[in-house]
Amino acid sequence: MPTEKLYYQDVFMREFQGTVTRCEAGKEGFQVSLDRTAFYPEGGGQPWDTGTLGEAQVREVHEKEGEIWHNTDRPLAVGSTVTGRIDWERRFDLMQQHSGEHLVSGLVHARFGCDNVGFHMGADRITMDFNRELSWQELAEIEAEANRRVWEDRETRILYPDEEVLGRLSYRSKKELSGWVRLVEFPGTDLCACCGLHVARTGQIGMIKLLSVQKFREGVRVEMVSGGRALAYCRALEEQNHRISVQLSAKPGETAAAVARLGEENFALRGRVMGLEERLFSQKAEECRNAGDVLLFEEGLEPEGVRKLAAAVMETCGGLCAVFSGSDGSGYKYALGEKGGDLRELCQALNRQLSGRGGGKPFFVQGSAMASQSEIQAFWLQNRRKP
Ligand SMILES: [Zn+2]
Repeated sequence: MPTEKLYYQDVFMREFQGTVTRCEAGKEGFQVSLDRTAFYPEGGGQPWDTGTLGEAQVREVHEKEGEIWHNTDRPLAVGSTVTGRIDWERRFDLMQQHSGEHLVSGLVHARFGCDNVGFHMGADRITMDFNRELSWQELAEIEAEANRRVWEDRETRILYPDEEVLGRLSYRSKKELSGWVRLVEFPGTDLCACCGLHVARTGQIGMIKLLSVQKFREGVRVEMVSGGRALAYCRALEEQNHRISVQLSAKPGETAAAVARLGEENFALRGRVMGLEERLFSQKAEECRNAGDVLLFEEGLEPEGVRKLAAAVMETCGGLCAVFSGSDGSGYKYALGEKGGDLRELCQALNRQLSGRGGGKPFFVQGSAMASQSEIQAFWLQNRRKP
């Protein structure tokens, strides 16, 4: 038996009474059908409603041949009258998102002649796919215009035109339609065939914010939020900016400049550290002059520093130079060099015995080893050639 669709009579109905007509055990929970319902089933890109029927939780709602089935966690007695309550916060949010999407798609269609060919309502943002490229500048203009339409606060109209009238109307639609068609009109902005639920006046959308655009198939994918989600997005950005502002002791409106300054300071400090390292490396090279084979542990060097130190000391020590930097917990970076030497076998032995990886030229190799300092020292005592 077809179910009376209360949600089409009043989209703001949050509570209703209905009589249970059927109740069947399903794979998960129970499938309950009523003579009338305000629970919206999935359709038109809009997810189903959730809520309660009597004591039962409604987890999913689907329509099958005009009959609406509520998936519940417990059975309901056939013939009993139950009170249905829609999770209103969730439903109103979906109506805001869905209506915001109509305004944006309608404006894009009118201005650029392209269509919304894909629509997805995600948990925190919705996406729309258009079959033409749109720049961020073009979308910013659409966003501004869409918000002006919101503030005009015009009434939404639902039309059920007969076939003759339908044939004369120009409306957006995903497919060729005929017979019973439900048109949703945001007067002056959009006319679209849609079975979903929308706000009664555009002002109820609150605000429309486009978040991103990226190339997708032959056009673009645009992310957006409306209403309560726009406020949540605004709060999240504010919180993020507040934290940056506190950490950098900058006014909230000046965080970008403060981050740029931080980047410049960091660049200057890196330059200074490199200069100090160069001096340290040449001092070490002098200390090791004619020392033969040398093993050096040096704290806190980047791989590039390890390489430079080994390259400097191998020029003066007259033998093999090995440099390790790191810690027993996280392993060591290494570099081995010897003027005119051939370190390939030694490097293979090192990688094998010290869980390392790396290689290079015959006279210079570098890599990393997952071993402790004492294991490295033991390896060195076995393998150095000129004590
Ligand atoms: Zn719609």
